[in-house]
Amino acid sequence: MAFDTLERTGSLASRLDAELRRAHPRTVLEAAVESFGDKLALVSSFGAESAVLLHLAAQVKSDIPVLFLDTGMLFGQTLDYRQQLAERLGLTDVRDLRPAFQDLAVGDPEAKLWQTDTDACCHIRKVLPLDRALSGFEAWITGRKRFHGGDRLHLPVVEFADGQVKFNPLANWGKADLDAYAAQYDLPAHPLVANGFPSLGCWPCTQPVEDGQDVRAGRWKGMDKTECGIHVARAPGTPNNVGGDI
Ligand code: SF4
Repeated sequence: MAFDTLERTGSLASRLDAELRRAHPRTVLEAAVESFGDKLALVSSFGAESAVLLHLAAQVKSDIPVLFLDTGMLFGQTLDYRQQLAERLGLTDVRDLRPAFQDLAVGDPEAKLWQTDTDACCHIRKVLPLDRALSGFEAWITGRKRFHGGDRLHLPVVEFADGQVKFNPLANWGKADLDAYAAQYDLPAHPLVANGFPSLGCWPCTQPVEDGQDVRAGRWKGMDKTECGIHVARAPGTPNNVGGDI
């Protein structure tokens, strides 16, 4: 993107963030669609809290491209939930993003990289496929929320990173807001939530949490790692960085 275009897009993101800071998630989604139209995608893990954002998005634009990272390491229940929820909500353009065959052949031929280098594994299975898919868009929507803590505590509603605008419509919502919305519209829960998984990722790196623990405490348990890398801003000139989850 040319420098002056980048500057204009960055200014637009700042203005939208100021305008939408306290807006209802649906208002944020409407503004995103109005601003970026077909150049806007939504990234979803079809995880524990995904139904709320997907339901809101389906009301605003049912044919919005929904990018789903099928890492090859997901729980079977997540793959089933992705099919059932997309159908139930009437989302017509859910795209399954898979790791490139060549990247797996070179970097993780035995599918055991998660045992020795989780950052490299996330890079091949999440960061690169999403980078490729997002290259055709100018803006995307995430399901991140401040109440998840960590790097997300100061999450803006609209941000500008790596030449793209990111909308975080649920940044201000807490667990009670999500539960109330899901109950109001009778949204189906991910089947593993009932088994103690308040946040879901790949099966090797996700464990149930105990009462009172943070929502994401079961992700990469016992490691310093808290994010997968797709929300980490890259230094100029680097291919990507590792380290955010959807
Ligand atoms: Fe690999 Fe674990 Fe990252 Fe999934 S979450 S891509 S299995 S390291």
